[in-house]
Amino acid sequence: MVSGLFSRSAASSADFSHLQRASIEFRKAAKSYGDHQVLNGVDLQIDPGEVVAILGPSGSGKSTLIRLINQLESLSDGEILIDGKPTRQLTGSALRQLRSRVGFVFQQFNLYAHLTAQENITLALERVHGWDKRAARARALALLRQVGLEEKAQQMPAQLSGGQQQRVAIARALASSPQIILFDEPTSALDPEMIGEVLQVMKDLAHSGITMVVVTHEMQFAREIADRVVFIDGGDILEVAPPAEFFARPQHARTRRFLQKVL
Ligand code: ADP
Ligand code: MG
Repeated sequence: MVSGLFSRSAASSADFSHLQRASIEFRKAAKSYGDHQVLNGVDLQIDPGEVVAILGPSGSGKSTLIRLINQLESLSDGEILIDGKPTRQLTGSALRQLRSRVGFVFQQFNLYAHLTAQENITLALERVHGWDKRAARARALALLRQVGLEEKAQQMPAQLSGGQQQRVAIARALASSPQIILFDEPTSALDPEMIGEVLQVMKDLAHSGITMVVVTHEMQFAREIADRVVFIDGGDILEVAPPAEFFARPQHARTRRFLQKVL
């Protein structure tokens, strides 16, 4: 349906093929809530344009790991560098700039219920990035076209299926032309028949060259699309490997136990 759209360079007004990409580096990145340490000083280097799948049991720290990247959570210790630049303790316009470079897609879509699909996308373009109304609307329509939803532009979220809402959320996350896009279990809240349409959009996006980090339970997606898989358990990164190696030869007993349960 939308296959290939993101990698097509001609004939699309919002062309993702020239998206810039950024590296992400965790250096001894740690997060505690009170005296509960949920991320134990992890190191991880993600290259520009890389697609990384984060796997691990519930409560292992997956959401925390990616929420730290755009500071939906703040680090307790260590550092996260984007394109080699430290991001800790950014505030004000520097933090807004960071967030415009990093798109985030939530499990529960988090669309504004009182705004149309199109307005969900134009809101930040106008209010945060200072686009004029016409340009923002045109950009939103182009993005909706790329996720196959141009005809739904005037619908409210409640009028859309879960899969459609998540595709709007992806379009919204791409509005500021981010260099990194983060997904936190983007298909976990969807009915099974809607998972495929969202994964297809994500596959197209993966091929566009943007840096992409995806927390997921979709093992097939991790296997086919990710450049590397990161396995996290108990707040530690236990394994980092290309999917072929990760699934064929998991190194850690905890990884093997996890894979036995989910495969
Ligand atoms: P995952 O996404 O792998 O399921 P999370 O990163 O959401 O795991 O959570 C890791 C741990 O941190 C869990 O034990 C969770 O209960 C705890 N946690 C997450 N968010 C908060 C918070 N805001 N306050 C306190 N504890 C939290
Ligand atoms: Mg989570």
